[in-house]
Amino acid sequence: MSDANTQKGSVSTEEEEEDWTEFADAGYGSAYDPWSDLVQAEPEESGHEQFEDDEHWDVPPAPSAAGIAHLVRIGSCDHCLTRLSGGRLAWSSAAEDGAAIRARALEAESGLTVDEAVDCCPFCENLFADLDLLVTRTVEKLAGVEFTRVQLGSHFAKDHIAEEEELRTRHGAQGSRGLKAGFVEAYADRLRVEYPSVKMVKERPQVMLLVDTLTLEVRVDIRSLFLYGRYRKLERGIPQTRWPCRACKGRGGGCESCAGSGLQYPDSVQDLIGEPLRRLFSAADTSFHGMGREDIDVRCLGSGRPFVIELKSPLKRTADHSELIELINAEAGGRVEVIGLRASKRPEVARIKQTAAEKSYTIRFSYEGDLDADEVERQVLSLAGETLYQQTPNRVSHRRADKVRERKVVSITNVVVEPPEVQLCVRAESGTYVKELIHSDEGRTTPSITERLGVPCEVLWLDVEEVHAD
Ligand SMILES: [Zn+2]
Ligand SMILES: [Zn+2]
Repeated sequence: MSDANTQKGSVSTEEEEEDWTEFADAGYGSAYDPWSDLVQAEPEESGHEQFEDDEHWDVPPAPSAAGIAHLVRIGSCDHCLTRLSGGRLAWSSAAEDGAAIRARALEAESGLTVDEAVDCCPFCENLFADLDLLVTRTVEKLAGVEFTRVQLGSHFAKDHIAEEEELRTRHGAQGSRGLKAGFVEAYADRLRVEYPSVKMVKERPQVMLLVDTLTLEVRVDIRSLFLYGRYRKLERGIPQTRWPCRACKGRGGGCESCAGSGLQYPDSVQDLIGEPLRRLFSAADTSFHGMGREDIDVRCLGSGRPFVIELKSPLKRTADHSELIELINAEAGGRVEVIGLRASKRPEVARIKQTAAEKSYTIRFSYEGDLDADEVERQVLSLAGETLYQQTPNRVSHRRADKVRERKVVSITNVVVEPPEVQLCVRAESGTYVKELIHSDEGRTTPSITERLGVPCEVLWLDVEEVHAD
């Protein structure tokens, strides 16, 4: 590996960490952030509550006996009694603890009753009473899902949070757990009973659970599973990623010209590798991220091209990697081959996308005219070490900005001249338009072999021999 390649090819730890933050944000931020609706309590409207609640204005807050009695009087549920009374808070026994607090308060103050107008707990609106239902719904939704790391979130109406905060500040013991944090803890506590080996995490979950406290719906978001590997493409005519049908754009269940497949080409590296994996992991779909890509008519040989495949919403997360390789390779029937496969993470997608790996190619081209074979070889070799100025090729100009890139030809070796054809090996910087190095793209790439030979040249075929990645 050359020095230049080492520099370009390696990604420092610092950069990787930056990548991670970037993707962590993109990963959940763009979808939703379960914590984003944390709200500050709005400032109290002066006087408003005082009129409504005048007779109780002087009641000292819990943990005073009068304060606890007041919590009972205004209709606090057992969970909230425990949460607000200033005693020990353990969610596993919060209901029983609250019942005991209530019993003591009723015993101590004869005539203590819950106000007649109360129809639900003014703090949680009886949300804690719905924990059983929420856990049942969660367990139903998670049936058949394999996971060991889960992150919990909740969505509350903003005014509920603000009202509870105000009421808690006035009547609850100082430092009482807030409604939202308390609810998520209580929910987590119940889930730990159902899933004793599952970890509750704040980052990189496999499953995210979001409870909507208004509708009592539980939203389950199964995070993607990532695998890293290298692939060899042994047959021409296979695009790297799924290529939608030009006629129907893959919409509406395909069309006549694609025989209902929605695809321009029936196979792709993405699907040859991804479909067996998708089935095995019971995933909804795949996303394929290669360290660059070869054209559809180019093979990729040697030790293969690094890629990360993303399995979306997988029900399964574990598998024997060597069995996966065997399965993929058997089904691909020698057209595509996977070498090595290991667990990966989302940040690695950024790493392989950003790694500027040099590539080695074998190219065969033909030239016009009657040239001296030794002179042809000399001219071809003369491009080694040259910097190419490549204006965006015509063939890609519809999707890339028109500009001139500078790319270096690192080496040219194994030149075999068999008039009127030449075969050679080229090692070039990442992002070199290598076909244009041969035929010049009507002078848009300079220098080029066409320019040096002074005759039109045409690429017959080319193979990626090596992606000098790591
Ligand atoms: Zn309550
Ligand atoms: Zn179609």
